[in-house]
Amino acid sequence: MASAVPSDDDVLRAVERRLAERGAPVDLRAPGAAKVSWQSLFEFRVDRSIEKRHERATRQKGTSEDIEARPTYTDLDAYPVAPPDDPARTYRHRLVREGTVDEVPCDGCVGGRTTCGTCKGRGGMPCPPDVECEDCHGGVDACWECDGTGTPRTRRARAGSRPRGPDAPERAVCRRCGRRDVACPTCRGRTRKVCTDCDGTASTPCKECRGAKRVTHRPCGGAGRFTVWTEGVVAHLPDPDEVRLSGPQFAWLQTDLLGVWMRAELTGVTDALPDFLEDGHRDLIARHLPARENEVRRRMTFAYLPLARVEVHGHPDRVYYAFPAVTGIEVARRPSRRRVTALAWAATAVAALVVAVSLAVLR
Ligand SMILES: [Zn+2]
Ligand SMILES: [Zn+2]
Ligand SMILES: [Zn+2]
Ligand SMILES: [Zn+2]
Ligand SMILES: [Zn+2]
Repeated sequence: MASAVPSDDDVLRAVERRLAERGAPVDLRAPGAAKVSWQSLFEFRVDRSIEKRHERATRQKGTSEDIEARPTYTDLDAYPVAPPDDPARTYRHRLVREGTVDEVPCDGCVGGRTTCGTCKGRGGMPCPPDVECEDCHGGVDACWECDGTGTPRTRRARAGSRPRGPDAPERAVCRRCGRRDVACPTCRGRTRKVCTDCDGTASTPCKECRGAKRVTHRPCGGAGRFTVWTEGVVAHLPDPDEVRLSGPQFAWLQTDLLGVWMRAELTGVTDALPDFLEDGHRDLIARHLPARENEVRRRMTFAYLPLARVEVHGHPDRVYYAFPAVTGIEVARRPSRRRVTALAWAATAVAALVVAVSLAVLR
């Protein structure tokens, strides 16, 4: 019983049982007592595999050993390739046209290496050999006697001397004028100090080539040559279509969970369609049945769940839905549209009342 399409009578008997459980025995099969309409659920999917063949000039870095190992062809259209196992997946067969494999030298490098672009082949980057003293900033504090010039101010007719507080740091002997206790302790009157980045050599090693002046040539991967060939590709590309007559409006019925669906899978375009299809379903999928151009494989899946909608004359506020389940015919109940509309009006009336009361309270 579970896997056959129930009749109107089967459905009505199931609804009768449901009503009887709630203490309302009734004969729904009497004329005019109930109305059955079928809204069966139907899902169809076709996965086609379309074959496409094309040729293209190809090249890769390095030598040709792995390319030589690939299957070859002379006439791509005549090369036999088996249809794919799974038409829902993409497959690409990469072939090599006979006699087209060649190795060519890279014209952008010598032996896979090229002049470093960062240092322009110098191996290093220019760097100032010395920098300004960070303590005296090369100013008059370099030396209170000679300002870092080597000529004491007393001979340059500059009056006054620097005030010196008790907390002032020790002064050093000036390397320029030779006076004691007057020079900046960091640069000792020289105003500048040796650059720690280059140790005074005026050049730092290039970060790109680390001083080697040459780097690996990226386009050829350091191989210094390319392999070129004509590639033939036989691609099997999925081309699916779907038809579904099982909208979300029936999600509450839990038909995926409870329903005993009838299912079928076909792989041939000329296969007879499953017996359970209704005429409407056949019309819906008709345009998906003929083979497409270059179609090499297909899989069609069909799923069908008979679903009856039952209106009972004696209960106009409700609608019943029935479908085959493992335990027999499952019956579910919903408020009818008439009932839903009435409830909606009632809810609106309550809301209006709440607003009126709120306003009265706030006043
Ligand atoms: Zn190169
Ligand atoms: Zn430097
Ligand atoms: Zn000095
Ligand atoms: Zn200094
Ligand atoms: Zn470099």
